[in-house]
Amino acid sequence: MIKINEIFYSIQGESSYVGYPTVFVRTSGCNLRCGYCDTTYAYYSGQVMSKEDIIKEVQKHPTKYVCMTGGEPLLQKEVFSLMKELCDLGYKVSVETSGSIDCTPVDERVKKIIDVKTPGSGEKDSFVEANLRFADVNTEFKFVICSEEDFTWAENFARTKNLFERTNVLYSPAFRRVDENWLAKKILSESSSARLQVQLHKYIWSPHSRGV
Ligand code: SF4
Repeated sequence: MIKINEIFYSIQGESSYVGYPTVFVRTSGCNLRCGYCDTTYAYYSGQVMSKEDIIKEVQKHPTKYVCMTGGEPLLQKEVFSLMKELCDLGYKVSVETSGSIDCTPVDERVKKIIDVKTPGSGEKDSFVEANLRFADVNTEFKFVICSEEDFTWAENFARTKNLFERTNVLYSPAFRRVDENWLAKKILSESSSARLQVQLHKYIWSPHSRGV
């Protein structure tokens, strides 16, 4: 059984799956408290559902893309087997995780979007170093940039861990805190290899805004 905050159908706003119609399965609960969190409503509220009922709900929508999000989806152990079952059914599954939980049990077919929390999040020390071993083509490391200090910190982190060479590195401006044009210019002027990512779902119609 998994405690679910909501299941909804919308346009994927982030990652290399951006733009695809996607079913979002948002789990309840998070172990972090980022200062910019826009899904505080998912910290506690939700209803307990069986995996079978979650899959039935997913199957109501005309897409093969499913995104597990939160809260922190990897806090609940049955999420791992749910993702495996969705892959077995032919879904393209991605998971948005805060980077604070070891991703080892995640099925290798699942695209992992691993947040690396910057100083501006207030949760800088939450990253589990073991997750660096998933720096490959099926994983994306995301940094939400809140300030110039965050940009410098993210560049240093990505360069010292060789992330630019090994995997996808996404820089996302903290919504309403950092101007996306400033970040675009910064990436160019600093010769960064990061990919700029604006949170598309914040700019288009969407049934919900999303965090993580
Ligand atoms: S932004 Fe994500 S990781 Fe941070 S507190 Fe909110 S749900 Fe948790």
